[in-house]
Amino acid sequence: MVNINECSEEYKSYLRDDPKWQVIRENILFRDGYRCRLCGSTQKLNVHHIRGTHRFHEEDYPEDLCVLCDTHHEMIHRYFKVCDSLKEFYNRKRKEL
Ligand SMILES: [Zn+2]
Ligand SMILES: [Zn+2]
Repeated sequence: MVNINECSEEYKSYLRDDPKWQVIRENILFRDGYRCRLCGSTQKLNVHHIRGTHRFHEEDYPEDLCVLCDTHHEMIHRYFKVCDSLKEFYNRKRKEL
């Protein structure tokens, strides 16, 4: 699940610069055959955190990572953002009742 914390500056620079993450990323790309898991595209690939709960410990939870092309990566992030705000909305409603 994507949340605000996942996008902290510290985590962003980890994803960008950390050699450990570069190795994990390469392993996941290899595991998924350098293809988007949804459409099989080999262009503009991203390694996506499915739940994002294991940041900084990804090597222990490879099942939390999957390869997605740019299009599907963006789609999934948008979808989860919608899910999150819906959940928030219903939680708030529940408290109000
Ligand atoms: Zn795709
Ligand atoms: Zn992602």
